[in-house]
Amino acid sequence: MQKQYVYLFSEGDASMRNTLGGKGANLSEMTRLGLPVPQGIVVSTDACVRYYHEDQVIAQDVVDEIDAKLAALEKVTGKTFGSKKNPLLVSVRSGARISMPGMMDTILNLGLNEDVLEGLYEEMGITAYDSYRRLIQMFGEVAMGVDKEHFNRDMETVLVKYNFESDHDLSVEALKDVIVKYKDTYLREVGHEFPSDPKEQLLLAVESVFKSWNTDRAKYYRKMNGFSDDWGTAVNIQEMVFGNTGQTSATGVAFSRNPANGVDELYGEFLYNAQGEDVVAGTHTPLPLIELRDTMPDVYEEFRKMSKDLEAHYHDMQDMEFTIEKGKLFILQTRSGKRTAQAAVKIAVDMVNEGVMTKKEAVNAVDVNVIDGLLHPQFDTKVIETEVPIGKGLPASPGAAFGVVAYDAKKAVEYFDKGKKVILVRLETSPEDIEGMHVSNGILTAKGGMTSHAAVVARGMGKACVVGCGDVSFNAEGIATISGETYPEGTEISIDGGTGLVYKGGLQTQDVSISEDFNTILNWSDEMTDMKVYTNADSPADALKALEFGATGIGLIRTEHMFFESDRIRAVREMIISQTVTQRQIALRKILPMQKQDFVDIFSVMKELPVTIRYLDPPLHEFMPTTTQDIEDLALVMNMSTTDLREVIRSLHEYNPMMGHRGCRLAITYPEIALMQTQAVIEAAIQVTKTENVVLQPEIMIPLVGDVAEFNYLATRIRKLADELIEASGIPVNYRVGTMIELPRACLLADEIALEADFLSFGTNDLTQMTYGFSRDDAGVFLKDYYDKGIYGSDPFASLDTRGVSQLIEIAVEKARKVKPDIKIGVCGEHGGDPKSIAFFKKAGFNYVSCSPYRVPIARIALAQDK
Ligand code: PEP
Ligand code: MG
Repeated sequence: MQKQYVYLFSEGDASMRNTLGGKGANLSEMTRLGLPVPQGIVVSTDACVRYYHEDQVIAQDVVDEIDAKLAALEKVTGKTFGSKKNPLLVSVRSGARISMPGMMDTILNLGLNEDVLEGLYEEMGITAYDSYRRLIQMFGEVAMGVDKEHFNRDMETVLVKYNFESDHDLSVEALKDVIVKYKDTYLREVGHEFPSDPKEQLLLAVESVFKSWNTDRAKYYRKMNGFSDDWGTAVNIQEMVFGNTGQTSATGVAFSRNPANGVDELYGEFLYNAQGEDVVAGTHTPLPLIELRDTMPDVYEEFRKMSKDLEAHYHDMQDMEFTIEKGKLFILQTRSGKRTAQAAVKIAVDMVNEGVMTKKEAVNAVDVNVIDGLLHPQFDTKVIETEVPIGKGLPASPGAAFGVVAYDAKKAVEYFDKGKKVILVRLETSPEDIEGMHVSNGILTAKGGMTSHAAVVARGMGKACVVGCGDVSFNAEGIATISGETYPEGTEISIDGGTGLVYKGGLQTQDVSISEDFNTILNWSDEMTDMKVYTNADSPADALKALEFGATGIGLIRTEHMFFESDRIRAVREMIISQTVTQRQIALRKILPMQKQDFVDIFSVMKELPVTIRYLDPPLHEFMPTTTQDIEDLALVMNMSTTDLREVIRSLHEYNPMMGHRGCRLAITYPEIALMQTQAVIEAAIQVTKTENVVLQPEIMIPLVGDVAEFNYLATRIRKLADELIEASGIPVNYRVGTMIELPRACLLADEIALEADFLSFGTNDLTQMTYGFSRDDAGVFLKDYYDKGIYGSDPFASLDTRGVSQLIEIAVEKARKVKPDIKIGVCGEHGGDPKSIAFFKKAGFNYVSCSPYRVPIARIALAQDK
């Protein structure tokens, strides 16, 4: 049988998305449901693919098929294409299987020429002329790429000549003038006459749609999302209905529920006596849909019922385009409606309660990317729309924040103590800034990427943070200039960590709280997966927050973060720069009680839930004092001259600290550090087991292992000390010793490591860094060029690279499970809170993901979704 390339709406249905495109399949389905859809035909995606295979020519047999289906459409509508009497006019739209930017927009009123116009004028009066001028304009702009300014200027000239206010007021005479001008413009800009043969118009429009499949924007979008270039787009050719034939005609858009708050009401806007693009273009101010209830009550009621039927059919809230032609309602399009996070949650729960959706559908319908809006303060959308940003960086940690700028942590604390809200602005942050970050409302850095210190710490704290903002630079006095303007300390700025935008002045934010509906969705999500969501937490406060959000364990305590507070960092520095074992042991003895108390506090919060403690992993440079004052202070404590201390610091300098003396390498050189940490963990566990009478699950995690011998060297010593302490106390503690997998070599040798380790946790931040050979701290700067030049579509530090890094993970999981089928496997890199990456971890057979507390709800939903 010969392949079919063109379909009537009545020949298709929703399942034919790949052939008819999303829009075509949808219109066919609506036709099948008996809805009042203006009828039409779809030139399939296969025809588009063929067009590209055959030197960008529409094959004659496809043209013949279009003709044949057009004839069938004429029968259905009782109208004739190109005829003066009762003419059939059509709209032409693109429609791939997924909607994408860059594709051709709508052309309306196709099929009109001077002849047809005469006949149409008799039928519908002045609207006929208006339709014709719109056709020339749209055809010129959309199909031929004429700049709309040319047509706007033509219109302006005629409006002035006839002294009319708007294109709505034009007389027939004026419209005739417009048409002459538009045709001249068309000829001048396109190089040939506006086609008067309706069939020629149609084929040119079809070809423009095919061509739009390969615009740079469309190609880039596909590349970014991993969509195939071979899908092609379909073309929808649909009978025109006219919303611009007087006051009993109208056109508009409507939602089956309020998309802002989720209330169950027909919601939208419309214009009397207008065509679709008037509503979308924003050139005329539309009316609230509810007005229609008074002016056309029957139509309104029919529409309301229909919207409920559509919801019931599609199991989701609908976004519909409609036209009323002389009192008769037509639905032009329906699709799932976009909605705010608040509305999404309310609609999902209501629809399950009404029996419109299943719980699974409800969970799948939640757009996890907007859920952040339920967890962090946000700017008022109306306010933000009118603000012009002064800078843009990476959206490192969501939420909106405003405050006075402070350029160092001390100043931030000073402002905070005076009751002011603060935005800490730094070149980049380091452990020394932690207190300043704590008291700040938001953090902005000029440098750094999505896994930089500022990004990771701010995310953990749930604070708004924008990093790598190239618009910020510092002068010699340390004052920031943002996009050319200087901001002395104390002036106000605002940042949006969800968009990466920076604004001048203090924009007010709105607080949010977790609603009952949101909790309902979260609980349903948990029922749908066996995977667990742990949290990355470095303090009891973070752990408590995460528990509130539903975490069922801690997947990563970065123990170095526990020493950020000013009284502790000094002891850590002492330890790092100690020159003898005795010196180091003195410093470690100072740290031990603090470290033990931290674990006591965290175990007391987490009780029987797993707590994964990652041993010290500092890139040493992060901890070194930099200011003269700090160096002098430390020299005094260490009882050495500042010259000697500077010499020690200099000797610690590494050219590549990220690949240097860090992770398990540090503990291999100085095992006493790992032993101090073991003593702290085990003694804390013994104490809490006694006082709280619970069975704890401490999990000791060794970082940056690349060889099983490294693991064994440390694990043997850790286990020996732990067992001795436990035995001496007489209190049983079920501790485990596992490792992070964050080096490509560890992935390739994961079977050897798994045989020895009790669990594996992927550190995808380092794994990404080491696989790409991109420094986590510096990549932000040049990755921007990669996006601009279309080399990469997204940041591999934010969303897991599912082409390369993913393969290493798959190899590691397979090897590890081969030798130890039950081994617990998780992830604690930043990707553990990214929905797209979570879908991969789920497929790869992980037992858990671990993410910052504020990402826990997102991860719970993402894990339950079929994506
Ligand atoms: C990682 O590398 O993914 C990780 C979790 O460790 P860190 O970010 O502390 O290096
Ligand atoms: Mg790491």
